[in-house]
Amino acid sequence: MKKDIAIIGGSAAGFFTASLLAQKGLPVRIFEASDSVDPSPRTLIVTSHISDLTGSLCEGTVINKIRQYQLFADGRFATISLRRPDLVIERSKLIQRLAGRAQASGVEILTGRHFLGFKPNGKRLSFAVSTNGDGELVEESTDILIGADGAFSKVALSAGCPKQPTVPLFQAVVRLPKDMPSDATRVWFIPEETPYFYWLIPCSSTHGVLGLITEEEGRGQRSLTRFLERRNLIPLEIQSARIPLYTGEFPIHRRIGQSHVYLVGDAAGHVKVSTVGGLVTGFRGALGVTEAILNSGSSREFRALRLELSLHRLIRKVLNRFSQANYAKLLGLLTPSVKHSLGLFSRDETGTLLLNVFFKEPRLLLLGLRSLLIGR
Ligand SMILES: Cc1cc2nc3c(=O)[nH]c(=O)nc-3n(C[C@H](O)[C@H](O)[C@H](O)COP(=O)(O)OP(=O)(O)OC[C@H]3O[C@@H](n4cnc5c(N)ncnc54)[C@H](O)[C@@H]3O)c2cc1C
Repeated sequence: MKKDIAIIGGSAAGFFTASLLAQKGLPVRIFEASDSVDPSPRTLIVTSHISDLTGSLCEGTVINKIRQYQLFADGRFATISLRRPDLVIERSKLIQRLAGRAQASGVEILTGRHFLGFKPNGKRLSFAVSTNGDGELVEESTDILIGADGAFSKVALSAGCPKQPTVPLFQAVVRLPKDMPSDATRVWFIPEETPYFYWLIPCSSTHGVLGLITEEEGRGQRSLTRFLERRNLIPLEIQSARIPLYTGEFPIHRRIGQSHVYLVGDAAGHVKVSTVGGLVTGFRGALGVTEAILNSGSSREFRALRLELSLHRLIRKVLNRFSQANYAKLLGLLTPSVKHSLGLFSRDETGTLLLNVFFKEPRLLLLGLRSLLIGR
């Protein structure tokens, strides 16, 4: 008999996983805490790799294309032109399309259902769900449980996983400065204010999102306010959230009795910690979970994703030690042929990108190694 699957969390990673499994003929149910599949609008920037994973699904959700990155550090400036543009996506539309595809593949979507916890029950898992509105408690059961319930996953907690580390993200919707092309993203490296970077991503010809990630909540908000003031930009709306950090140690599969529990997307910490993008890697995690379920635990995609995320972790370790002078040096080493490689390969193919870049400019490797070994 076919094993049945319950997925907790009806968002990007949950719906994508559900479609993949249902298309293989498995019975899938999704339990989503919100009353409807109507997430609040927000823009995300992703590499074109998303189209390779989702096919035509992204069409109609893309609101802008980014063809160029403009990098700033300590008075230096560099431009990188992308061979395949990055896509600025309206997240709510994408999630609704993913839900539509899941439903068309035979997935049962149950909204207003809040997962509370699970326990083994013979060959299956029992889990408790409270219903929104009347708060009625319902006991459900499944062969395989998948947690796609975000950074603070209750499925992960019930499976005995430790709490994931997270960092705060702050961004403001702003009017674009007059001199800003709408197909270019700007990135400023100011390590005194954030070990990550500030970004300004145009969502249209007139508006964009300006944000940063820090390690402390209070400092992040202050830094964002000051940065906006320095550039005479008025925040029209502020968004903030905590993003999980991939550590390489967080388990994504647990065997509970004779059943299996998997984690996917933010619940699994599948986020690139160099840039803190989690959509494409969440989809790759979904492919990995599907392969693992269909092939008794084995998945090539999981191994490739682990390598990809580990490389991003290494880059983050290096950048966390960078001083302003290191960033200025980095931009100075971006020769035309290095910039060409940076435009040719995306941040979702980091292994190939790094090999190409280091081959063309070995001093970049030395800069990274020196920072890793001796810090600022
Ligand atoms: C402000 C912001 C900007 C971002 N920008 C980018 C970007 O530009 N590019 C990029 O790639 N990534 C970006 N990210 C990260 C990206 O959005 C996430 O990695 C991705 O959306 C995670 O999707 P998910 O499906 O794993 O989790 P989520 O989208 O968090 O979904 C979890 C779902 O589970 C449900 N849920 C939670 N608990 C329960 C429960 N107990 N019972 C039932 N349901 C439950 C929730 O209601 C939700 O629907 C950004 C994140 C934020 C917050």
